[in-house]
Amino acid sequence: MKDTITAISTALGVGAISIIRVSGREAITLVNQIFKGKDLTKVESHTIHYGHIVDRDETIDEVLVTIMKSPKTFTMEDVVEINCHGGIAPTKKILELLLLSGCRLAEPGEFTKRAFLNGRIDLVKAESIMNVISSENENARRVAMKGLEGYLSNKIQQLRQKMLTLLASIEVNIDYPEYEDIEVMTNEKILPELKNIGIELENLVKSSEDGQILTSAIKTAIVGRPNVGKSSILNRLLREERAIVTDIEGTTRDTVEGKMNLGGVTLEIIDTAGIRNTTDIVEKIGVEKAKKEIEEASLVIVVLNYHEQLTKEDREILEKSKNKVRIIVLNKTDLERKIEIEQLPKEELVYTNATAIAGVENLELAIQNKLNLGEIEKGDYTYLSGTRQISLAKEALSILNEVISSCQEGIPVDMLELDIHASWEKLGEIIGESYREELIDQLFSQFCLGK
Ligand code: GDP
Repeated sequence: MKDTITAISTALGVGAISIIRVSGREAITLVNQIFKGKDLTKVESHTIHYGHIVDRDETIDEVLVTIMKSPKTFTMEDVVEINCHGGIAPTKKILELLLLSGCRLAEPGEFTKRAFLNGRIDLVKAESIMNVISSENENARRVAMKGLEGYLSNKIQQLRQKMLTLLASIEVNIDYPEYEDIEVMTNEKILPELKNIGIELENLVKSSEDGQILTSAIKTAIVGRPNVGKSSILNRLLREERAIVTDIEGTTRDTVEGKMNLGGVTLEIIDTAGIRNTTDIVEKIGVEKAKKEIEEASLVIVVLNYHEQLTKEDREILEKSKNKVRIIVLNKTDLERKIEIEQLPKEELVYTNATAIAGVENLELAIQNKLNLGEIEKGDYTYLSGTRQISLAKEALSILNEVISSCQEGIPVDMLELDIHASWEKLGEIIGESYREELIDQLFSQFCLGK
């Protein structure tokens, strides 16, 4: 970490300003070499300076330069941020000059990686930064901010502290068995404490799993026979929400439209193209296709026609989706009822009329209820996020559960010590107290450049 790194931190495109970030021991002197204005090596920390970036005699751009000296900076190193005019040419030219003057181009996420390696943030906070940037709805942002503010790290630290206290008392017993004034650790004594920690950890894992619907898009399939009104319902949902997630990575129109925010969750509609392309008869026919979509989906919306009797295909789709989290919609309620409601599964039915402006509001509510959103939103938003964190917590929990059973079976406490320690270590991996280098590299490489 001795070299000084640089990268463009804003999205590269035409905009009012761009920010180029520099971090490292020589950040200030290297920027000073291409800056015309005050001598930046002599200014106070956390100050902003007006001037120009120059390439020998030529002025490249008019800029504002922020000087932040170690250690109170994002990376804990000297950091300089150059605010230049937001355009591709000036931004790239300034980056090029910095590279020529001796900076190295930062890898994706390298600033945050330095912040972690220098001990400014733990791994959970680092991941939360990435999650704040990529959050697609308000709930996801809130969960990510809780992580960044340290609530989750604290929770994990508390659990670890409890394990450590337990370990310490076991250790004392092993090391100084002759001391009479030390309380002897028996299985009966440690069991309640182990169980308490187990319950807390289990609650964290469980609420985090539920909370995942806030942070990741829910794969949703809208299935039904042709002409029951699937695309009309989808259009209605999209039109009313007007909150289509924007096209970030230049994906196709169809996939963009496939994601929608609905009351705090993001739904990813599987095969939007198939549903919306009303002219493609062949695509629309297959119940086979519906079955495949049902398998892929976490939430299935089965659309039936209120105005027609149930058909063999309807029954097949209902049968195939019966073990899924599903919502049965009866559409076209503006027309006369012909469907045999008594033959439908005994679960809540949602009535819609996709031709009316507010005709699918029922469905929106049903989706929120089905996903238990109301309950989850009452929670404190302190959730583990992402597979890495959740699977480590699960591993820690399963080790702990084994310890609890062994303890109940009367296995001596000193034989439990190793496993309690292993569970404690797994929790430590979540916050990055112990880590493997490759894992850290891989994790930070998922960050954006300049972050
Ligand atoms: P899909 O094939 O399942 O996607 O069905 P569409 O959305 O293309 O709808 C088929 C036909 O039913 C279209 O002519 C729609 O205008 C009509 N339709 C859809 N929903 C309703 C509804 O609630 N009431 C009535 N009367 N017609 C509807």
